[in-house]
Amino acid sequence: MKEVVLTDELLAEIRKIYEAIESGYDEVARALKFSCDGCPDNCCDSYFLHHTYTEWAYLWKGFRELDETRQQELMERSRQYILDCEKAEAKGERPQAMCPLNDDGRCTLYVHRLMVCRTHGVPASMRRPDGQTLNFPGCFRCQKIVKKKFVHGSQAPHMERTQLLQRLVGVERELMGEKLHLYPRVKRTIAQMLVTGPPTIPTLHCERNGSLPNV
Ligand code: SF4
Ligand code: SF4
Repeated sequence: MKEVVLTDELLAEIRKIYEAIESGYDEVARALKFSCDGCPDNCCDSYFLHHTYTEWAYLWKGFRELDETRQQELMERSRQYILDCEKAEAKGERPQAMCPLNDDGRCTLYVHRLMVCRTHGVPASMRRPDGQTLNFPGCFRCQKIVKKKFVHGSQAPHMERTQLLQRLVGVERELMGEKLHLYPRVKRTIAQMLVTGPPTIPTLHCERNGSLPNV
């Protein structure tokens, strides 16, 4: 197995993507006069799965910057989170547990948090590779604002996620190379990403033999 490591170039591109997400989000939030201030809810207990080696490696970059005691504490919380999710799933329920990185409402790895954490809240849309457009109405509080201000939700300002996601996919391709499709698919919670350790990939048979035939 070998660790998946982000180059400085890819790290710079990820930061740029995250900055673009932030400004896109802020623009829509400003237009709607929406913010999370005073919200009785906390979205960090929503159950999300993440799908790229890129964000997994970037999360670990932040995690490694924490001191050892803190890392152990977060690992312990992550193990508990996984058990709680398994219990809910065994009962046929969608898990709802606080993200192990959430500390009294604040994100421990704020700079390294994932794309989903950065986009949740405001209305958004995204065109899938098959041409279908997905519309996200935003969180319950934002939906209330939209309902008050617009006759139909489609009239509200929204964040266009397509290009940003395409850029993230571009980083993923660059990181994993042309054999991306041969590696196990990522489908993990943040807790699973931490407990498993930094992302690694099996050394492909062709690489072990020192040759790289076309596949
Ligand atoms: S995104 Fe919405 S639901 Fe989540 S904390 Fe902010 S206001 Fe509350
Ligand atoms: S990584 Fe941070 S922002 Fe994302 S769910 Fe966890 S605590 Fe919340």
